[in-house]
Amino acid sequence: MAAPRARFYDGITAQVHLADVRATASELVIYRPADSFVLARWPIADAFVLGDIEHEGVPSVACKGSEARLVADDLELRRQLAQLIPHLAKLVAPPAPAGGRVAAFAATLVALLGVFWFAVDYGSEFAAPLLPYSLQVKLGESVYDELTADKDECHGKTGLAAINGLANRLAHAAGYEHPITVHVIAGGPVNAFTLPGGILVFFSDLIDQAKDSSQVAGVLAHEIGHAVHYHPTKGLVRQFGIDLMLKLVSGGYSDVVGTLGTGGSLLLALRNGRAFERDADATGVALLEKLELRADGIASFFEQMLEKEPADMAAATGIWSSHPPTAERIAATKRLPVGRPAFTDSEWRALRNVCK
Ligand SMILES: [Zn+2]
Repeated sequence: MAAPRARFYDGITAQVHLADVRATASELVIYRPADSFVLARWPIADAFVLGDIEHEGVPSVACKGSEARLVADDLELRRQLAQLIPHLAKLVAPPAPAGGRVAAFAATLVALLGVFWFAVDYGSEFAAPLLPYSLQVKLGESVYDELTADKDECHGKTGLAAINGLANRLAHAAGYEHPITVHVIAGGPVNAFTLPGGILVFFSDLIDQAKDSSQVAGVLAHEIGHAVHYHPTKGLVRQFGIDLMLKLVSGGYSDVVGTLGTGGSLLLALRNGRAFERDADATGVALLEKLELRADGIASFFEQMLEKEPADMAAATGIWSSHPPTAERIAATKRLPVGRPAFTDSEWRALRNVCK
C-alpha cells in the first residue's frame, strides 16, 4: 500500500490518524485510506492554512470552529489542494501580495469551482454547459490556433458565406443560442471536426472529394450535432479536468495550450467516443429533416469513407472517429435522397472554389 499522504489530529485526543483527503463539490473529506472511514468533513469555505511555508516545512490545514488539524505531508497532495482551492494556496507557496480585488476574485473562483467539481464528480456531461460560453470560445480559439498554425485558411467570401449560413441555420434549428463559425483549411486530410465554442474546421479535400453537396451538408450537420451537444468542450474537460478549468477561469489562456499539448495530443483528446458519434449522427439527420433538406449525405459519405480508410493518426479524429462501427452508423443514418438541396448550385460552386 502507498504511504499515507497526510496526518489528521482530531483536536480532542492525542491520537494521530494516517489520512488522505479528497475534495467534493463543497467539502474536504478526510478519511483513513486503510478502510475509507471518514474522519472529518470540512466545508471548503471554512478550511484555512495555519502558518506558512516560509516558517514551517509543512503548514497544516484547519477548519473554522474546530481544533482539528490536517498535515498533508505529501507535496503532490498539497499542490492539488492549493490548486483546487485558491485560499489554500499557502500550502505550497509564500502568499502573494493580494489586494481586495484579487481576494474578491478568489472568492468568485471558489464558488465557480465548487460547481465544476460537482459537475466533474458526476460526469463531464454536465460540466460543459456550466463553463461560461465565452470561455468555451476562448478554449476553442486556442485549440484552433494550435491546430492550424502551419496551415493555410481559405477566404473565398461566397463559399464561406454558404457553409456558415447553413451551419447557423442547422444550429438554430437545434435551439443552439450561439453563433457557429466554420473555417475551411486548404488541403487534407479528408476530414472535419468541431472545437469548443461552436468553431468548426473543414479541410478543403473533404469538400473537393465529396460526390455532391448533400455529403458536405451531411458532414456539416453531423458536426453541428457535436457542437449543439457541447461534445468538444465535454471531451476536453473530461480529458484535462480541473486543471484546464482553472486556467480558463483564472484567465491564463496562454497556459491553456500548454496544458492541452500540441497538435497530436490535442487531436487525440478531441476524438469522440461511440456515444457522442451516435448522438451527432442522429442530431445531424434530424436537423436536416427539420429544415426539409436532403438528409442522405451522412450515410453516403460514410459509405465513401469505408472505401478509403485513412492511415495517419491525424485523420483518425473528427469525422473519422471510427466507432461505432461504420456499417452500424450507415444503417442508422440511411435516408432517401428527398428534400431540397442544402446548397443552391451557385453556393455549391462557390464552396468548391473557396480556396481559389
Ligand atoms: Zn463526429
